[in-house]
Amino acid sequence: MIKLTNVTKTYPNGTQALKNVDLTINDGEFVFIVGPNGAGKTTLTKLLLREEKPTSGKIEINGYDLIKMKNRKVPSLRRTMGFVFQDYRLFPNMTVFENVAFAMHVIGEPNRIIGKRVYKFLKLVNLEEQAHNYPYQLSGGEQRRVALARALVNNPQIVIADEPTSNSDPVMAYEMMELLKKINDLGKTVIVITHDIKFVQYYDKRVITISDGTVADDKAGGDDGEN
Ligand code: ADP
Repeated sequence: MIKLTNVTKTYPNGTQALKNVDLTINDGEFVFIVGPNGAGKTTLTKLLLREEKPTSGKIEINGYDLIKMKNRKVPSLRRTMGFVFQDYRLFPNMTVFENVAFAMHVIGEPNRIIGKRVYKFLKLVNLEEQAHNYPYQLSGGEQRRVALARALVNNPQIVIADEPTSNSDPVMAYEMMELLKKINDLGKTVIVITHDIKFVQYYDKRVITISDGTVADDKAGGDDGEN
């Protein structure tokens, strides 16, 4: 569960990026976060990953208190979340397989379980056949799917995707959204940060609108609880 209570973030230059935000996202929800540029969406994700701390307020994620927690606990918190960055952040000199396996090596998983698990997630994102290709040999949509497999491979409870349909053609964007929905159907909390209002309307899920640092709107999805 993600719970923000009265969260304010003021940057050192005085910019108030978030103002008194209250927000709860329960396990297993599918949530869109929308809002214009400068609204505070990136700041919100930085707080969730604890790249930044709020100026005031309280943030709890998967049982961790992000204000009180020691820095050495941050990796454990981040392991409960999978993040798909807008620019994928793949290693160009590693194959698809190695890029996904890397996330498991980092946390010290033994080799004997890595291969099996990597293939399981490459299969989920339909990339088994490209396992030995390098990122430059893949389309943008395929690279993003590698990033998604990498975000999932350590079995996080929460998956956050930042603009997962940007720079995609409509077919690619639809495939990506369907994958995120499938991941939600597997029981994960999925948070999609997007400008793509078409998809937001199509999926009829919860939509949180951030505007000028506040939650301007929070609309429940029509199919909540059923998927
Ligand atoms: P979004 O992701 O919705 O575009 P951001 O969270 O990036 O919004 O930005 C929210 C506000 O905070 C904007 O006014 C932005 O200029 C400001 N901001 C973001 N990061 C910083 C920073 N490191 N220092 C100062 N101001 C920042």
